[in-house]
Amino acid sequence: MSDLSIRSLSKAFGGVRAVNEISFDIKRGEFLAMIGPNGAGKSTCFNMINGQLAADSGEIWFEGKRLTGLKPREIWRLGVGRTFQVAATFGSMTVVENVQMALISHAGESYRLWRPAASFHRERALELLDQVGMRAHADRPSRELAYGDVKRIELAIALANDPRLLLMDEPTAGMAPGERNDLIALVKRLVIERGISVLFTEHSMDVVFAFADRIIVLARGRLIADGDANSVRADPKVREVYFGT
Ligand code: ADP
Ligand code: MG
Repeated sequence: MSDLSIRSLSKAFGGVRAVNEISFDIKRGEFLAMIGPNGAGKSTCFNMINGQLAADSGEIWFEGKRLTGLKPREIWRLGVGRTFQVAATFGSMTVVENVQMALISHAGESYRLWRPAASFHRERALELLDQVGMRAHADRPSRELAYGDVKRIELAIALANDPRLLLMDEPTAGMAPGERNDLIALVKRLVIERGISVLFTEHSMDVVFAFADRIIVLARGRLIADGDANSVRADPKVREVYFGT
């Protein structure tokens, strides 16, 4: 059964066909990487799936429901999560408070309930921090965290929504190679434990080939390959885009 179905999705900006008639499916439990050179259309594709950007044409379906035309918040409620960059926004709050806020939002409760150091959802928030290896940092101000740790908090916040599909556009941007590996390994472990699907973009080919169940390749708005690491690596169209051979 396929969880997410994308059919002939297109988006142009002026004369630029950022995403051009793209179709692919994601099955439940799949850990799927989307790769492609800068400007290939990856972020545009992500932004259409999560509803931030309206498609020009084409359709997106998730668990039998049509996502195209829905607002980001409606898509989020249907179980399609994404990572947000929290660093700038919630730096003055502690780590656990950031996750508590996400749980308040997920429960549909008012942010007006919120008081710093309050106990709303604290236990659940600590559990999520435990899962991303950050429980020991729970009561530190978020702004004090190292960059790689902020990325783990972003993951905990995304998981607070209990997504069945999680979208991660460049989750390891700006991280050192070892950290990239650790974060993607962590995401994959959580995905397997929870039985959810992930679509992520990642620049490091080593990380992609090591962890992704399947890889789709975009180039200039087109989907040029879709398969496992071996088939994608050997694909002449992919080699041409990446190595010019
Ligand atoms: P990627 O994430 O693969 O690097 P993007 O989806 O960000 O690629 O961009 C695809 C193409 O669309 C690029 O040519 C980019 O310049 C263009 N583009 C993306 N967003 C916008 C926008 N908001 N306005 C105009 N052009 C855009
Ligand atoms: Mg991008």
